[in-house]
Amino acid sequence: MADTKILAVNAGNPEPEVIEQAAAVLRGGGLVGFPTETVYGLGADVLNLDAVRSVFRVKGRPGDNPLIVHVSGTRQLDDVVDEIPDKGKMLGEAFWPGPLTLVMKRTILVSDLVTAGLDTVAVRMPGHPVALALIRAFGEGIVGPSANLSGRPSPTTAQHVYDDLRGQVEIILDAGPTTIGLESTVVDVTTEPPMILRLGGLTKERIEEVIGQVEIDTAGSRNARSPGTRYRHYAPRAQVMLVRHEDREGFAALLQEQRQSGKIVGCIVHSPLLAKLETGDSFRVLPSSIEIFARHLFRTLRELDALRAEVIIVEGVPEQGLGATVMDRLRRASNG
Ligand code: AMP
Ligand code: MG
Repeated sequence: MADTKILAVNAGNPEPEVIEQAAAVLRGGGLVGFPTETVYGLGADVLNLDAVRSVFRVKGRPGDNPLIVHVSGTRQLDDVVDEIPDKGKMLGEAFWPGPLTLVMKRTILVSDLVTAGLDTVAVRMPGHPVALALIRAFGEGIVGPSANLSGRPSPTTAQHVYDDLRGQVEIILDAGPTTIGLESTVVDVTTEPPMILRLGGLTKERIEEVIGQVEIDTAGSRNARSPGTRYRHYAPRAQVMLVRHEDREGFAALLQEQRQSGKIVGCIVHSPLLAKLETGDSFRVLPSSIEIFARHLFRTLRELDALRAEVIIVEGVPEQGLGATVMDRLRRASNG
């Protein structure tokens, strides 16, 4: 493939003629980068196996890491899901369209390639008007993993998609930076109690308000259930080092030690206590509001990479609500 076109599109009210160009690419078996409220996705026709194969190839994604199918309505949902358990219905009604992915029994229409051979399929109805318009114009469900090279921080702007996948996708729809900045929360509703397989933009607390107690299966037994959570992920080129929230001494000691060893050190902090230590361009102070911190995290990791940081020291966040998701990403970016 030759060129990758970046097409600007209105985030709230997407222009039909722009959406139609992207839908035509999907119909031809091509790949489209598209915005969602979580991160940018890499779209391909879920029923076209060559297209699905190219998604794995261009991302360098291991074949045993299944893809999420993105739908815009119940007809497409019924095509891929065999049975929607009651708690799945309740969650769908409460949070779709939105940053929630449900794992349910699949139909025979869904290929083993998409599900990595599992008898379940992961489905999401994204909340971004551009994503919904694209799926509607295309007509069928689309697979939509994050549009980055496997293992890298997820893309939160069209430029990030271009940086990772230039020449590999035909069109990138550019609707500006994504608002959540973290991936969707993946919940398996085939079990009782339902199980969170990956923390994401929707918090455990909000899920439990709707269906009662759920379990989390993202850290300890990270093997069979959500294959994707096994891999190193979300990582910039630099080595990520995590220090505790407001640990001024720990942070200052680590910063000094790393600088003395001659490394280019980037920093990401958010508490006023650590912000006082600010030095230079590779020291980023993010707002301590967890929503805004999350929105900027992947982007800032990429920016520090661009400054050739060899080490990035990140101040942790309190582990509740969205903070639990942020800490999950940071731990995995730092390899535990
Ligand atoms: P990504 O597309 O990169 O956002 O990752 C998709 C996530 O959903 C990975 O963590 C996958 O392991 C998980 N996933 C997708 N399909 C299934 C499934 N059928 N069962 C369990 N987890 C799944
Ligand atoms: Mg991903």
